[in-house]
Formats: sequence, structure tokens, C-alpha cells
Amino acid sequence: MSTSTSILRLRRGRERSLLHGHPWLFSGAIESMEGVPAAGDTVEIIDAAGGWLARAAFAPSSRIACRVWTFDPDEAVDEGLVERRLHAAIERRGDLARAAQVDAYREVNAESDLLPGVIVDRYADIRVLQLLTPGAERFRQTLVEGLQRRGDCRGIFERSDNDARRLEGLPPSRGCVWGEIPSGLLPIREYGLTFLVDVVEGHKTGFYLDQRDSRRRAGEVLGGEDVLDAFCYTGGFTVAALRGGAGRVLSVDSSQRALDVAAENLAANGLDPQGSERIAGDVFIELRKLRDQGRSFDAIVLDPPRFAPTAAQIQRAARGYKDINLLAFKLLRPGGRLMTFSCSGGVGPELFEQIVAGAARDAGVHVLIEAWLGQPADHPVAAHFPEGRYLKGLVCRKGTSGWYSEQPPPR
Ligand code: SAH
Repeated sequence: MSTSTSILRLRRGRERSLLHGHPWLFSGAIESMEGVPAAGDTVEIIDAAGGWLARAAFAPSSRIACRVWTFDPDEAVDEGLVERRLHAAIERRGDLARAAQVDAYREVNAESDLLPGVIVDRYADIRVLQLLTPGAERFRQTLVEGLQRRGDCRGIFERSDNDARRLEGLPPSRGCVWGEIPSGLLPIREYGLTFLVDVVEGHKTGFYLDQRDSRRRAGEVLGGEDVLDAFCYTGGFTVAALRGGAGRVLSVDSSQRALDVAAENLAANGLDPQGSERIAGDVFIELRKLRDQGRSFDAIVLDPPRFAPTAAQIQRAARGYKDINLLAFKLLRPGGRLMTFSCSGGVGPELFEQIVAGAARDAGVHVLIEAWLGQPADHPVAAHFPEGRYLKGLVCRKGTSGWYSEQPPPR
């Protein structure tokens, strides 16, 4: 058994989730601490009776006080462990790495890849590293060197600059940590499409890699003359729909910078940026304007940002989802498809489906759910870590006239 100096004792009865293999320990479960661990130090977790449970990274400022490195008393938490897990995670992406059509994907998905707080995204021959917790930060050097030693990329850029890190008591950190990062937008390939990615200033690590499978699906099922891509970011779904045969796409996002890149993405895929409309605005307002103008669409994508980062905001988030989905059902032509998403971890798949069903009912339309969408294989979810599942989507088909009268169904 390796020796870490601090021992954290749990309150009686608070060992259950750890016994089930869940990697988080909330601060409220702590009875006492023997030793004074610094942020990122490894601590031994014992139950109220003194039985050994796990070895975990300590984060004094976080609600999640500990993230487990190992449940094996004989496994040391050291550079070797981190490097083994890093390479194992990357090797698991072998299928994607060999697929000729995709060269951007997530290589390390934090807790689900047994590396709490660590994200590694690959964009062609560049890697973007995100260290979100003190435990991850502690192994910064090991991770950077491990990636570098693989010899399969030419630069590593760090994007440890999001809110999650602040909640862990860590300052933001961003910049090239090894090799060279080409200036300007980086081209990546995704199932026959090209996207330009801004790893320095873009959202997340530059691109919404988690929507890859759904963008592909959009190319297959979203057609017609008029498509609306709401919360379009750099035009992922816009490009997929146009290349899939859609006539025109109206793309809406609050970020003008994202819309500018969207125009470049259209051009990069042989599409005429002038042939489609882009609006910089608030989707909640723009959808109402479109309704008031009597506009309608053959297909709509709703891919909003996270409305409920934590369980506390679920009510508000639910109202937000209901509002935009209701408006979308009204703007949709009969027989048209809505691809609607939620990436709020706090809103589970069943609740999301209920919200969408409620929106359809209030819009007075009959809706069929044709497909349930989610995270692609490079964003796996450890079976004992359901929090890892945050993204869900539905492909909804609006009924053709006759399924319901113009009157909304009775409540
Ligand atoms: N569908 C995109 C990802 C969308 S992410 C893709 O496949 O790449 C969510 C987007 O919503 C972000 O680009 C953000 O700028 C935008 N956004 C956030 N709040 C908004 C609002 N109220 N109105 C319009 N856009 C908003």
C-alpha cells in the first residue's frame, strides 16, 4: 500500500457511493481529516469504522472535495498511474484514429477515462489539454510529457480557462505548453466535411466535438428548402444540412465571431456564404421575431448552451427549453423535423423528453420522436459515473395536418 500522509474519515453511512465505485466525494461527507493536505494532494479515504475505501485527489475549495484515483489499496498514485491511464484512453480511440474521415475527437474524457479533471481533445496534429481540478493540475508535467512522448502531434495547447476550474479554486491558464501551434484557424475533417477551429479563442477547446454524430445525422435527415440552425456556433449543423441537400439555412447565434467563422466554414465546404443568412442575436428573441414575421421552416436545429450547470437551476432551465421548443414547433412546417438538444447535466433524458412533449402539447401539434441522440463514443460515460452523461437530443417529426385539430389538446 502506498503511503500518503493525510487520512480523511467519512461520516457514518457516507461511504455508499464510493463502495459503488462512484469517483466523487462531497465535502459534506467528511467527518475529520488527519494531516493538512494541500490542494491536489492525494489522501487516503476511510469509513467511519476505519476501513480503507479509496485514494483520491483533495480539492479544499470545491464542493467535490475528493476525486478518486484508485479503489485498489495496492495501486500507488504516481506518474506511472497517470501515464498508463493516459495512453490507455488514447488507445481506446483507435477506431476513430483509424477512420479516415475523422481527425478531431476527444482522447481523454476525464472521470470516465479514469483521469478526473483531465480533458484531451485532438484536432488533427494538435492536442488541446484542459486541467480542471487540483488533482489534474498536480500531474500537469506528467500529462504534457506523456502526450509529447507519443510523437504523434506537433503541439499541445492548454485551455484550462473555464468556469469549472474557478469552482475548484484554480486560476485560469491558457497557452501553448509544448511544440508549435499554427496561428489562425485549424482545419479538421469530420465525415467528409471540413471545419475550421479556433483552439485559442473558441468555445470549450475550440469545437463541439460531442455533436459529431448528430451533425452527421443532421446531414441525413434535415432537408427541405428552409432550415433554421439556432445556436449555430461556427455552423456545424448549418454546413451538415446544406451539404446534405438543404436549400437555405438561417443560422442564429449571439456570437458575431462564431458567425464569421461559420461563413468561413461554408466556404471551406464549397458552399456559398452569400446563399445563406446569418443573424447575430438572442435566439429567444429571434424565434419570436420569425414567428411574428410568419416565417416557417422545413427543419430546425436547437442546440442551446448549458441552461442548468447544476441541479439548482433545473426549474429555470426547464422553462427555457420549453420556451424555445414550443416556438420551434410553431415555426416548423407540417412533416418537418426538429433536432433538439440539451447539454445540461441536471436535466436528465426523461425530463428533457417530458419538456419537449409539453412544448408540443402547448404548441398544439402532434409530434413523433424518431430518434434519441447523445454523446459519441469518444465521450464515453463510465457506468458508475452517470454524471458523465450530459448530452441528449431528440429528432422530432411534426405531424401533418389532420392529426390534431387547430385547437390545442385538452390539458
Ligand atoms: N451547434 C453548435 C454548438 C452550439 S453551442 C455546433 O455544432 O458546433 C451553443 C451556442 O449558443 C454558442 O455558440 C453560443 O454563442 C450560443 N448562444 C448562447 N446563448 C445564446 C442566445 N441566448 N442566443 C443565441 N445564441 C446563444
